[in-house]
Order: sequence, then structure tokens, then C-alpha cells
Amino acid sequence: MPGRVRPGGEGLHRGDEVLSGDQQFAVPAGSAPSSALSDPRTAWQWEFNPCIQCGMCGGACPLAFAMDHTPRRAIYLAKEGLLDPVLRSNMLWLCVSCYNCTARCPTGLKITDILFPALRDAAINAGLQLPGEFKKALDNTYRYGNSLGEGPRKRIEWAKGAGVPVPVASQLRRPFDVLWLVECYPSYHPRNQVQAQAMARILRAVGVDFAILGPEEHCVGDCERLAGEKGLFESLVEYNVSLLDKYEFGEIITSDPHAFNSLTRVYPALGKTYPVKHYVQFLAERLDTLKPLLTHRVEARVTYHDNCCLGRMCGLYDAPRELLRAIPGVTLVEMPFARENALCCGGGGGGMWLDTVIWQAAGERLSDRRIGHALATGAGILAVSCPFESSRFEDSLKSTGNEGTMVVRDILELLDESMRGRGGAAA
Ligand code: SF4
Ligand code: SF4
Repeated sequence: MPGRVRPGGEGLHRGDEVLSGDQQFAVPAGSAPSSALSDPRTAWQWEFNPCIQCGMCGGACPLAFAMDHTPRRAIYLAKEGLLDPVLRSNMLWLCVSCYNCTARCPTGLKITDILFPALRDAAINAGLQLPGEFKKALDNTYRYGNSLGEGPRKRIEWAKGAGVPVPVASQLRRPFDVLWLVECYPSYHPRNQVQAQAMARILRAVGVDFAILGPEEHCVGDCERLAGEKGLFESLVEYNVSLLDKYEFGEIITSDPHAFNSLTRVYPALGKTYPVKHYVQFLAERLDTLKPLLTHRVEARVTYHDNCCLGRMCGLYDAPRELLRAIPGVTLVEMPFARENALCCGGGGGGMWLDTVIWQAAGERLSDRRIGHALATGAGILAVSCPFESSRFEDSLKSTGNEGTMVVRDILELLDESMRGRGGAAA
């Protein structure tokens, strides 16, 4: 059975074979969403003809209950050429790209990577009104290279608070080992800047020869791709590829699971392959060096939220847990829905910019539901490894009346605390 998630497995499988990223979700050349939709009786049918209308996708979707049409029904209507009612429905704005449907589709259809971007692309091309916040984020990315609408020079301001040198590639003028793509939220968002600062200190402490792109960096574009802004995504890819070609480095690391997802699975399908790791992999591989530096105890029950890109998409379940277990004092406890069954935080694939629409349709945010799973473990810390999640879950702790019951920390923050002590003094 193609594309089935096996309990306890890593990533998606076909029989006993673990599917590679390309096999799982690569967007095939020639299946561009807009062309797929412009002639539903040719390209669209070709892509989704194998749909057996089993309904697994709707059953797996955490927001299907609020959709005017489930993915199954949308596929049926689209195959029949009846796109209009789908495009005018709420369903295309309620997908948060959690990949649950894709992971469970028995025919291996790329519902998340093809269907929803295609529908959104068609809505954009048809001139239909887009949700305001969503449109603003895309406009910002067109104008500034980031969805927050911040200027390029501010991209590096976070580094002033890191307390360690943060080399910029354009100033280094030599090959270096590791190119760190900081990405947009850790560069600009105050809640995530502390995570970037922690990462800089950790990389320094373990002796990594790294550089960042600084003001030259633009968004990698994964959420823009999933949001259906094909033209914007293509322009970001073009910019990023020519920028990366300027520098000589050994590998790329990032703290953003979406950037990791795109560089691992989508850029290669467009002809550009990079050696790329998320920081949880990169640091887990260096635990021999890192562990002796973790000298301060972090006495806490900690539960880890598997984000969709690292987990369901890329099968990275063990590395974040290895890092957490390496911190003295940490007791790791699991949520009932963990690993491949984890519930999405609701922020991916443009979900960050669709909160209002989702709230109006569903009466909740997925992060509110997920925080309930975390609280049920009795943990005092919810650990995350995606920049979107800290502020989302902190908001949810407040909106569900649980502020003070639990704190949300990126794994980077916990490692940094264990390295330096709570006050930040050097160990
Ligand atoms: S799970 Fe796959 S085969 Fe089943 S209805 Fe959904 S898209 Fe079609
Ligand atoms: S990706 Fe997630 S939110 Fe989107 S349709 Fe599939 S299951 Fe639902």
C-alpha cells in the first residue's frame, strides 16, 4: 500500500520500504498546480484519477468537520470539472498542511502538496477574495522576502543579543563548513529571536565553523508554496538558488522545519539538491561534544510536540527526543497523540495567516486542542522544534485559561539553559 503510515515507523512506507522524501511527496515536473486545474479533464484527472473515494483523507483531517467539502468530495467535484463550488467554499482555507490526509491516503495521492496549493492557486487566479491576513503575508513576502514585512537590514539584529560572534557569509570571504539558514521568524519575531541566539551560542560551544546569510537571506518559501502562490514560490527558489551558489560551504542547517521540508523534498524536484539538516539532527549527531557542556540541571517533566514537517513528512522522531534526554534533570513524557499521530499546531502551510478564518469556521485553533494533549501529560514544559510553535502554544495556554500551568520552550532554549544556567551565566 503506498503512502501508509505504520505505527512506530519513521516516515511513510510502501510495504516494508521506507519511502525517501522524493518518493513520498516530490511534486512531479509538469504537474504544476495551475496547469492541473486549468483543464480538469486532463492534467487534474491524470493526477487524481486513482482516488478511490475511500474518505480516509477526510477521516484523518483534524479540520474536516468544519469544511464545506472534505478533501474526498473536493477531489470528486474537481474531477467532474465542478471546481467553482469548491473554490467558493471555505475548505481551501481550512487546510493547515498537516499531511495527515496524505500520510493515510491508500493510493498515495499528494493531497497536501498538490490538491490544496492547486485549489488556492486557482482561487488566486480566478480573482476570488483571499483572507486578509493571508493576502498580507504573501504581499509582504513579495515585497520584502519575508511574511512579516520587515526590512533586510533588520534580519541580523537578533545577533547583537547572542553574546557570541555570528559570522555573515558575505563578510567571511572564505569557504566555511555550515551555512545556517536562520529563516524569517527566528530573524524577526522577538519570541523566536531568543531561539536564534541560543542556537548561535550552542554552535559556537560545539565548535562549528558556520556563517549566516544576514540581510541577503530571503524566505525559503515552503509556506508560500503550500499557500498556492506558485509564482511567488518560484521567484523565491530562483533567488535562493542564485544566492546559495555564491558561497562555498559544506552543508546547510536550519531551525525551521518548513525550510528543511522544502530544501529536502521540493528544491531537489526543481533540480537543486543541497546537503541539509534540521538542527535536531545536526546536534543529535554531535551529542558526544554537546553532552559534557550540559552542566546545569533542568528539573522538569517535559513533553515534546512532533511538528508535521519533521515528523510525518520527514520521519525525524528520535533526534529531538535524544537531545531532550541528554539534558540532566529532564524527564521525557509522551502525549497520547505523538510521533506520526501528533496533532498539528495549526500554523503550517499558511495556517499562521488563516487563524481568523479557521476560528470562525471551526470555533477553535488546533493549537488550543493540542495544548490539551500536552497538559494531560502533567508536564511542566512543552518542548518544540519549530519557530511557529512557541508563540502559538503560549497564546493557546492563555486562551484556554492555562497560563502558568506549563511553559513552552524550544529545544534550543532548553539546551542553552542547561549549558549556561537559568540566569545565562557561563557554566
Ligand atoms: S484518502 Fe486518497 S483515495 Fe481515499 S478519498 Fe482521499 S484522496 Fe481519494
Ligand atoms: S493536510 Fe491536514 S489540514 Fe490539510 S486537508 Fe490534509 S489532513 Fe486536513
